[in-house]
Amino acid sequence: MHKDTPKNILIVEDEVAIADVVKEYLAEAQMEAVLLSSGVDAATTILSGAFDLVILDLMLPGIDGLTICQEVRKTSEIPIIMVTAKVEEIDRLVGLETGADDYLCKPFSPRELVARVKAVLRRTSNQMVLSNESSQRLVVDPERWIVTFNGVNISLTRREFILFEILHSKPGRVYSRAQLLELAYDHDSDVIDRAIDSHIKNIRIKFEAVCEWDPIRSVYGIGYSYDG
Ligand code: CA
Repeated sequence: MHKDTPKNILIVEDEVAIADVVKEYLAEAQMEAVLLSSGVDAATTILSGAFDLVILDLMLPGIDGLTICQEVRKTSEIPIIMVTAKVEEIDRLVGLETGADDYLCKPFSPRELVARVKAVLRRTSNQMVLSNESSQRLVVDPERWIVTFNGVNISLTRREFILFEILHSKPGRVYSRAQLLELAYDHDSDVIDRAIDSHIKNIRIKFEAVCEWDPIRSVYGIGYSYDG
């Protein structure tokens, strides 16, 4: 992020006290925030092109955050951080393919939120360039079980290939570990969540040996997505 181009953030939140605190913290981080306290015109405002990132509350008067997010995602890739009051909601949201870039649960520390905002902005701006270029050089062939980058073979194990192919088939979609387990393993197998982490780690090591690009994004506390 460049210091000379302050980022414009839209906060869609009906709890004005929370939004005001967030706004102050963002200002300290050289970001300007505009507050919208109803869901009704949110999608139109988000799509106006005036904002670099949206902090979107789930429970809103008028139209809820989930509907707004899905509406926006039909036409825009603007970074969205979704905020919810229930931690158990996050798993459900991930399952619904909201298209949000990150999720945060209330009550959150404003400092944590600002850190997430910075991280999402950094990732989306850097990754957009790197991922677009890199994913064009990536070939995933499910029929021959082959992955190549720039023509160089990345030799994944069968399980690694299955996992990578699941992520790769839906770029940007965030999968929880539980979802990956269900999709990549037989239902009766007693594999644990950690197995997913260790496969992902190995996939990254294999990519690292061939290119500078890490095709898999870790979503804190949730799971993984393909970043192409
Ligand atoms: Ca609310």
